Amino acid sequence: MKYYAGIDLGGTKIYSLIIDENGNILGRNKIKTEGADSFENVIERIKECYYGVLKNSNINEDQIEAIGMAVPSSVNVDKGILIYAPNLGSGWRNIELSKIMFEKLRKPFFMDNDVNMGVFAEYSLGAVKNYHHIYGLFIGTGIGGGYIKDGEIIRGVNYTAGEIGHMIVKIGGPRCNCGRKGCLEAIASKIGIVNYIIKLVEKKGEKTILPEFAPNWRKSVGASALNKCFQRNDRVVVKALTRAAKTIGIAIANLINSIGVETIVLGGGVIEELGDVLIPIIKEYMVEYSIADGAKGIQLLKASLRDDAVALGAASFTSIPENSKYLYKG
Ligand SMILES: [Zn+2]
Repeated sequence: MKYYAGIDLGGTKIYSLIIDENGNILGRNKIKTEGADSFENVIERIKECYYGVLKNSNINEDQIEAIGMAVPSSVNVDKGILIYAPNLGSGWRNIELSKIMFEKLRKPFFMDNDVNMGVFAEYSLGAVKNYHHIYGLFIGTGIGGGYIKDGEIIRGVNYTAGEIGHMIVKIGGPRCNCGRKGCLEAIASKIGIVNYIIKLVEKKGEKTILPEFAPNWRKSVGASALNKCFQRNDRVVVKALTRAAKTIGIAIANLINSIGVETIVLGGGVIEELGDVLIPIIKEYMVEYSIADGAKGIQLLKASLRDDAVALGAASFTSIPENSKYLYKG
């Protein structure tokens, strides 16, 4: 039996797991990233997380064939270069991270974008494993996307394809983290939803019961607090969530009109908590804004792998023999 490690490197946590060659998970480990300002420190934390998961899985280092790591950045997968990760430290740029990790962990090493890996896991082992031409959207604090056609992740010539979060859906709309205005993420991510609620309350004087469920809501609000307000028919929250869902539906219609997909998988914290509320509205707008019969038969499926998805995708992608061409081996 062969074994593979998958690592999900995030700005606040590092999550790792070990799979066997059939995709069964043997063990997991999660630690805080901590001290992300120091690059060396983060590399040490990745190493710590990896040795921790070996222990939790009762696997010896020698039994590991290769390691896959997902990062919050676009990635040159051919050279193992992290291109730009604004959420790591004060922003990591152009780092030969596969080479560095290979030298640290002494295993063939693969690296890709985190959402690509999450979507790949849903495609190979999760909610959309019976489909071939899929698009995945992960809606949480931000919005990420990934596109898979016939088993191949479509990354684009400069490794930025699939970033539906930065599709402009409103010219001159709210400012996005990427610096531009009117991106889908700026309207329909959790941050976009909360910013809109702030605007309704502070500029238009509308009233909301959100502070009852999230006293510090301007700074931090969970999707579950939004759900509670929606269930109590809070006008402001209903308005903000409906606006987000409509916009996501239109963005998906834009996708269908431009590339045509077989199915869409939706994941992330906002969908996990609010999927039942949002998905019917998303679907209505997807159908309405797709040209001709473009959306006919296209299903919106909820992601099923939750916290495992990203690390599992990285391990699973790395375990496929045809992908060994992407491994950094020194
Ligand atoms: Zn943007």
